[in-house]
Amino acid sequence: MANPDRSLHPVNLPADWAPDSWRARPATQMPVYPDAAALQEALRELRALPPLVTSWEIIALKQHLADAQEGKRFLLQGGDCAESFSECNSDVISNRLKVLLQMSLVLVHGLRLPVVRVGRFAGQYAKPRSTDDETREGVTLPSYRGDIVNAPGFTAAERVPDPRRMIKAHARSAMTMNFVRALIDGGFADLHHPEYWDLRWVGHSPLADEYHRMVASIGDAVRFMETLSGSQVHNLNRVDFYTAHEALLLPYEEAQTRQVPRQWGWFNLSTHFPWIGMRTAALDGAHVEYFRGIRNPIAVKVGPSATPDALMKLIDVLNPEDEPGRLTLVHRMGATQIGSKLPALLDVVRREGRRVLWVCDPMHGNTESTANGYKTRRFGNIRNELEQAFELHAVAGTRLGGVHLELTGEDVTECLGGARELTESDLVRAYRSTVDPRLNYEQALETAMLIVRKQAQ
Ligand code: PEP
Ligand code: MN
Repeated sequence: MANPDRSLHPVNLPADWAPDSWRARPATQMPVYPDAAALQEALRELRALPPLVTSWEIIALKQHLADAQEGKRFLLQGGDCAESFSECNSDVISNRLKVLLQMSLVLVHGLRLPVVRVGRFAGQYAKPRSTDDETREGVTLPSYRGDIVNAPGFTAAERVPDPRRMIKAHARSAMTMNFVRALIDGGFADLHHPEYWDLRWVGHSPLADEYHRMVASIGDAVRFMETLSGSQVHNLNRVDFYTAHEALLLPYEEAQTRQVPRQWGWFNLSTHFPWIGMRTAALDGAHVEYFRGIRNPIAVKVGPSATPDALMKLIDVLNPEDEPGRLTLVHRMGATQIGSKLPALLDVVRREGRRVLWVCDPMHGNTESTANGYKTRRFGNIRNELEQAFELHAVAGTRLGGVHLELTGEDVTECLGGARELTESDLVRAYRSTVDPRLNYEQALETAMLIVRKQAQ
């Protein structure tokens, strides 16, 4: 179908695509709902509920990501590995926002570039798992697949996929979104008041001291400019925040895929910026089929098994017209593999002249288990992968345009190392993630400072 508003968005709708065409492809990581009628009823209800985001916001973000592809902005994407229904509360949401705002201030100040802020929140409820079942002490149950599917408790009843959870996830996402929007509109992100972003539980911390010195010098600069101009500097009192989640549970995503008056094509209106996880990025799989037809900017996780040839085929399917801002590639290789796996991918994309935003996720390739049974990540490995990423892009003549992180504003001990040198015995104290380990406040700030240092080199 020809695009009537070609001047705005020069892409063609794939003729053979529909919001449900993914159903003809192999769909991995999908739960099997025992009650088909209840599933249909939940999906019918979801299709009628209002969207969580608008097409205007989605198009604005796509433009920001297009700028990032040209080196004019830097993407900061972060949040929980998985949100949980029980932690949809004001402290968790505002603390996470505080950490992201502090990190983005460090980045804006150090990189001298606007930062595109994207939260892994307001919909990050579905999780891919490496096995369909989990066995504990001889008992085998279906794996926990995120609160949108089943519950984390290890009982048969809690592990049954329940379609009503999709309605609850939609409602929790709307509440999260509403609170974030209200905070930002009300002035929470105002650069005149960075004290709003201080975390109550953080005591003395050398990194926080460094951050506060930087904030004080920015405050001086703002006041100086305002004295000169005799008025408030505009645009410093609000920032844009966008949402992202792994669009894993396709029935849920399909139900929120809509056409919008006066806009051409289909939008996923459950989030601004959905991504395809590494485990569901097969070229002929259901997830790639679903993603190729939506107008949102999209991301794909790229792991160590990706070959240059397979990556080019994926780019051809997901962004056939090389549309600016459309495609982000998030490499997550691990500190030990990035050096051997990433360069060939960077080279082929650059040689073929394809437009992508390269982003580093230094978390997911560095997951390990400790002797005392915790899933953790060493901050040293995370730092090392990120440093190598900057260096490898510099050598390849490509640009690392953003980071994708798992972090929280809660006082947790989930990743080892960092400024407080957390050790295996510290994990017991405050390990709260039901899925992957997250950076805590200091580890997150340290990461932002590291990015600034590496970009300056
Ligand atoms: C994630 O982002 O939580 C995740 C599962 O990542 P990946 O698909 O890269 O393993
Ligand atoms: Mn994760």
